[in-house]
Amino acid sequence: MHEFTSEVEDLAKEVLSYSLHRLKTDPPLDGPRTAEDLYSEVGNTITAKGLGGHEALELFKSVLAKACISTDHPRNLAFIPSAPSEYANLFDLVVGASALYGGSWQEGSGAVFAENQALRWLSDLAGLPEAAGGVFVQGGTIGNLSALVVARAKARERWPQTNRWAIACSQEAHSSISSAAQVMDVDVLSIAPDENGKLRGIDVAREIDNFHESQNAHVFAVVATAGTTNLGTIDDLVSVGNAAKDRDLWFHVDGAYGLAALCAPSQRPKFAGIELADSFIVDPHKWLFAPFDACALLYREPAFAKSVHTQHASYLETLQEDASWNPSDYAIHLTRRTRGLPFWFSLAAHGTDAYAEAIEKTIVVAQAAAERVRNHPRLTLVGDPELSVVAFTRPGWEAADYQKWSDQLLHDQIGFIPPSSDHGQPILRFAIVNPWTKVSDIETLLATL
Ligand SMILES: *Cc1c(COP(=O)(O)O)cnc(C)c1O
Repeated sequence: MHEFTSEVEDLAKEVLSYSLHRLKTDPPLDGPRTAEDLYSEVGNTITAKGLGGHEALELFKSVLAKACISTDHPRNLAFIPSAPSEYANLFDLVVGASALYGGSWQEGSGAVFAENQALRWLSDLAGLPEAAGGVFVQGGTIGNLSALVVARAKARERWPQTNRWAIACSQEAHSSISSAAQVMDVDVLSIAPDENGKLRGIDVAREIDNFHESQNAHVFAVVATAGTTNLGTIDDLVSVGNAAKDRDLWFHVDGAYGLAALCAPSQRPKFAGIELADSFIVDPHKWLFAPFDACALLYREPAFAKSVHTQHASYLETLQEDASWNPSDYAIHLTRRTRGLPFWFSLAAHGTDAYAEAIEKTIVVAQAAAERVRNHPRLTLVGDPELSVVAFTRPGWEAADYQKWSDQLLHDQIGFIPPSSDHGQPILRFAIVNPWTKVSDIETLLATL
């Protein structure tokens, strides 16, 4: 069937050797170039006769790859970076070579079985019941949207007369929540957090009750964030979860970044209340050492999620004939790559203790970074870091000064730290998810401030 000619074999060696090189050597940081600039160097790569594998790979290696920031660089502390383990990256090669289909049990049972064990680990860490389950989706944005669609279906059963719906969440909730609201054409009841940036049950309860009295709409889900992206703040999950339960409302926890720390014993108590969740998400591509793109979406009652998300079509009905687990049925997607497998392989091979240790390591570096910022003559810490995001300001600097510093830092290939803001004030932040980021890296960065 396959024509694995000597030409393909040669290319395979080149591809594997490049991959091995990329895995073995510290990557340069690299950085963006304009489309015009890239075009002037590579021209149009899509041609009638094709460039040939060798030539296309050369273009990628020598030009295109260098115009992509190495998100796993130890001094890339931007947004939430990535830090896939070598094992996870290696297994991504296997996934790529294997033509696995991850949508149905019938086609991918072995892969789905393995993905489900990885999901089980996360579900158990959160304290969800045995029946809980879910699926790996592309990212937290799709994970949040998929969960909220299920939440609204639940509310429609509970309050069949209602035709206007709202999501209750913190003003500090991730942008993907308002994006989900827009897609779903529902409102957002945006609630002020306390002075520490945490959403509290007492405020949630009051705001929802007022909303229900004054508006012709009903809240269908309460969203708490377990580790905000900007500052790593964890909402008060116990009180917010209870405020939701008391009102028969779905409780969704967005832990895209922070819930990874469930596996770190020193951090676990901060997530008390996560066991109340009807659904939650965590992105292994953020702080669980998996390559892009993988978000674990878990439901307390997956059977209901399945009733909401299963696509029906004559050619698909054969997949629904037994009680098997079809990942397609648990989110907004049909065809899917087995994107949870690199995470599964790394977790299976290294064991869960290694995950706990790697997270603890990043926490120690974040604490050390906070300490050095505190002692820095020109910098001011924006609160003590709750997880592994360290935010600070340089009093006297305007937004333009931060941007200039950041551009220079990338230009000099020292690090990638784009400015952010908090309450309208420009800030800098180190998001530390990479166990290879050392205290000396932090010192290198701080020395430029
Ligand atoms: C990153 C993030 C998201 C979005 O996840 P993607 O994988 O980027 O789609 C949602 N919520 C929080 C808290 C995040 O940090």
